[in-house]
Amino acid sequence: MAKEKPFVPPNEMPPRPIQPLLTGQKALVTGASKGIGEGVAVALAQAGADVLLNYFSDPEGAEKTAEKVRKAGRQALVVQADVAVEEEVQSMVARMIEAFGRIDILINNSGIQLNAPFDKMTLAQWQRVIDINLTGQFLCAREAVRVFKRQGIDKSISYAMGKIIHISSVHDIIPWAGHVNYAAAKGGIMLLMKSIAQELAPLRIRVNSISPGAIRTPMNLEKLTTPESYRDLLSLIPYKRLGEAEDVGRAAVWLASDDSDYVHGAVLYVDGGMVLYPEFASGG
Ligand code: NAP
Repeated sequence: MAKEKPFVPPNEMPPRPIQPLLTGQKALVTGASKGIGEGVAVALAQAGADVLLNYFSDPEGAEKTAEKVRKAGRQALVVQADVAVEEEVQSMVARMIEAFGRIDILINNSGIQLNAPFDKMTLAQWQRVIDINLTGQFLCAREAVRVFKRQGIDKSISYAMGKIIHISSVHDIIPWAGHVNYAAAKGGIMLLMKSIAQELAPLRIRVNSISPGAIRTPMNLEKLTTPESYRDLLSLIPYKRLGEAEDVGRAAVWLASDDSDYVHGAVLYVDGGMVLYPEFASGG
């Protein structure tokens, strides 16, 4: 008997070449061993940036991303670090300066979920998610800003002194039962980002967030194994398709480039309209 083909959600992203908006720039991407970090790192490389690829526990994944970056004709440096540990972040940034001489773009992407009903959530589950998803973004942004200030502005590279993009989530505004540690961290990123943006605007350090909706990543694919589970997910997405890591990558390329030079302190939702309260589309 012929084996039934496993269900895979269709990829409906319009195929388009990525424009070389980041030629000569150097980017640091945390959590680049898979998922959104991988997609963003590859898109930045295709746009012309050399990339430091950070990972935590998956060196093979990071090496696969590095191969894709090199295939795009750019340099890749793979560095293991826990973004929640101050000294590890500092030595990762030092490796970046040693290898590439500068940082132009920080993509603060690393993130985890440790889910539990609220009254069963342990302090350890709460703390680890806050440490990686929020404190990790603080530590990486602070080190990047220290480097940006030492570098100054070089308009032959970019009109900004540096660019920070926080990868947040639609759960920076949509509450999420069973995931209060995750939603609290993402809500925290919004005011972390806006406060850094307010403080550093006069230096021309641009700070923004991308808040993705449902993106094709290993974790989401595990849940989308049947047409029914995909249909249930689409009921939350007005644009009626799954997001691709490359959708986030393309947004990151634009947000890191001088094409978005006047965009500062903004949250860019890359979510097919998930934050539009789709249940109100037919009444309310
Ligand atoms: P993923 O596929 O699970 O990848 C997570 C990445 O974070 C991996 O590269 C992982 O490295 C890294 N990481 C985990 N702990 C780390 C630590 N302590 N230090 C440094 N890196 C660490 O996740 P994803 O879905 O791509 O999510 C990436 C970001 O997008 C997260 O901030 C997530 O909240 C956000 N997001 C995702 C979605 C979605 O639909 N997938 C939607 C909204 C927002 P190793 O693999 O090497 O351990």
